[in-house]
Amino acid sequence: MLTSDPSSINPTDDKIVHKRPPAGPAELVHKHLRTGEFWRTIPAYKDVDEATFLDHIWQGKNSIVTIDRLIETIQGLASPEFIEDARQGFLRAPMSVRVSPYMIATIDWNDPYNDPIRTQFLPLASRLRPDHPMLSLDSLHEQDDAPVPGLTHRYPDKALFLALDVCPVYCRFCTRSYAVGTDTQEVEKVALNASPKRWERIFQYISERPELEDIVISGGDMYQLAPAHIKTIGERLLNMPNIRRMRFATKGPAVMPMKILTDNNWFDALIHVVEMGRKMGKEVVLHTHFNHPNEITWITERAMQRLFEKGVFVRNQCVLQRGVNDDPETMRLLVKRLGHLNVHPYYVYLHDLVKGVEDLRTTLQTAINIEKYVRGSTAGFNTPTFVCDAPGGGGKRDVHSAEYYDRENGISVYTAPSVKEGQYFLYFDPVDQLGPVAQARWKDPVIYNAMIADAIEKARAYQP
Ligand SMILES: *Cc1c(COP(=O)(O)O)cnc(C)c1O
Ligand code: SF4
Repeated sequence: MLTSDPSSINPTDDKIVHKRPPAGPAELVHKHLRTGEFWRTIPAYKDVDEATFLDHIWQGKNSIVTIDRLIETIQGLASPEFIEDARQGFLRAPMSVRVSPYMIATIDWNDPYNDPIRTQFLPLASRLRPDHPMLSLDSLHEQDDAPVPGLTHRYPDKALFLALDVCPVYCRFCTRSYAVGTDTQEVEKVALNASPKRWERIFQYISERPELEDIVISGGDMYQLAPAHIKTIGERLLNMPNIRRMRFATKGPAVMPMKILTDNNWFDALIHVVEMGRKMGKEVVLHTHFNHPNEITWITERAMQRLFEKGVFVRNQCVLQRGVNDDPETMRLLVKRLGHLNVHPYYVYLHDLVKGVEDLRTTLQTAINIEKYVRGSTAGFNTPTFVCDAPGGGGKRDVHSAEYYDRENGISVYTAPSVKEGQYFLYFDPVDQLGPVAQARWKDPVIYNAMIADAIEKARAYQP
């Protein structure tokens, strides 16, 4: 045989040299979603068939809002100590409790204390920590930057429209606990109900500001908006010549994905607005909020596929939380799994300073470490930006861009030249994550005010 004859070379004869080591199971685990009728392990759902579990009305009606309902639902699955801990937690939490059956069914009840989904939705008294001394209820100053109640205009060309104050579930860590949910024993809320009359002033303001191009419709959660209201908001905004982009924000896909499969009126209203926008050359997308890979099951995959087929672009905004997703491997898995479903991981937020959830916050250093690990593990466009929403209204800042970071005392200083020029914005690591000497300093206002002044001084000195 003549080796110079090209037809004699069979490409399959040449063994391919694999330079990367073979992929271990960890590199493929993002593709393996929970299958089957997994909810049947919950005593109250053992006879619930697929059609019922996928029914969004059934999910809404069977959501857990009281401790008694929780006990009825899980029956003997959790220990009496856990139930007592939750009973005290429900009483003392600043946020109302509301958990969908879907979320209850994704909790690992063999270990509810450490389960990432339990941690986000069911408060336990034993986990409560004192709030940070520098915490205030509306730490992001959303109300200070609101020209009209329910509209925050902080950035030059985009604004945040709080269309309503209810959600399909209530998250313990909610930044808007000043408004969202019903009053609790700890907090009396600002009223932002779903009312076309209230929205009129907001529409008027937006139409009077030609620089506004981009509106985030949030709340609360647009999952709870009636189809007619989705159309009203969508059409009103799209018909304003200044508006070029809109995002509907909802936690729904993460906590009740079946609504996308079974609430056809709601789905059709969303698609109507998306398609209307597309014809006008305007972008209408969905922003959602997955925090842990266990929130994603075969039901989520089907729901995301329904949106994808209709050309609805979905982005994810995740909150970094201690005991939920604050280890690099969990975050990498979440990012890969979202990419698998065609959901673009957009942001990971450093947990805001929120009342009553100090146990969930991490240090800035944790965010920096995880970002380093995640970047490089998948497509750049599927790699989230890790941000700190700077307390005091500085807006979202890249975690790596702190002007100064006092790691010992947990104080970071940011500037935001295009948002509020000349101001300094401070983020504080949770005190219980600091060393004992630093913890003692945070007990004395004279000492900690001096530390803060010193951090700002250092930031000022480093600036060009
Ligand atoms: C987050 C946010 C926006 C949108 O910001 P992006 O970085 O574009 O996602 C707009 N207004 C307010 C007040 C916000 O908090
Ligand atoms: S869904 Fe969003 S607005 Fe509603 S409680 Fe959760 S974080 Fe807050």
